[in-house]
Amino acid sequence: MATILVVEDDPGIRTALIRSLSDRGHAVTSSQTGLGGLQQAIDDRPDLVILDLGLPDIDGLQVLSMLRAVSSVPVIVVTARDDDRVTVRALDAGADDYVVKPFGSDQLDARMRAVLRRTQAVAAEGPIVVGALTINAGTRVASLGDEILDLSRKEFDLLHLLAQHKGQVVTKRDILAEVWRHAYGGAERTVDVHLSWLRRKLGESAANPVYLHSVRGVGVRLVDPAQPDG
Ligand code: CA
Repeated sequence: MATILVVEDDPGIRTALIRSLSDRGHAVTSSQTGLGGLQQAIDDRPDLVILDLGLPDIDGLQVLSMLRAVSSVPVIVVTARDDDRVTVRALDAGADDYVVKPFGSDQLDARMRAVLRRTQAVAAEGPIVVGALTINAGTRVASLGDEILDLSRKEFDLLHLLAQHKGQVVTKRDILAEVWRHAYGGAERTVDVHLSWLRRKLGESAANPVYLHSVRGVGVRLVDPAQPDG
């Protein structure tokens, strides 16, 4: 059982969602507007948010961005059509997964369980230490020595993924699948850009790596500089 916030303006879909989620034993609250939903997500601290992207007062993607500025609550977005550009934007903006209308309650339930399993596993994992780097996925705080790193959501996710596989090469395809939840060959440039931002924040560069070592044509690995081969 989880507490779920449903943000959906269509009364028919909202009612059906509330009913099917309640039938599965969840505690459900709902909002018909984006701003109302944002406020409820902050005040009520649900375990998961189901967010329709087509809302009357404000675009769902904007709601998602504002929510992500203050909360890491898992979010599944609901899109009206199977449009890659919209889903990619939503995933980039911090959605954990998405469903396309019309969707069945079994499909939504499967997505919800996968997202909740993932976030609960991460929260239970405890901080990962690599040299002077500490990455705490539960609090989403990463620090280098005494200094807390000012990382964007994707930079944090990228660093966390590499830390989970410290010492091992992680391919760009795997990074795209895990951090961006999609695997388009053409988007590897996105990984390169985020890696370069992350390097700058760690005070290193591709030419003079300390923690982040690129393996040409394969991917990247995070190493403890005291044990570069470990
Ligand atoms: Ca709608």
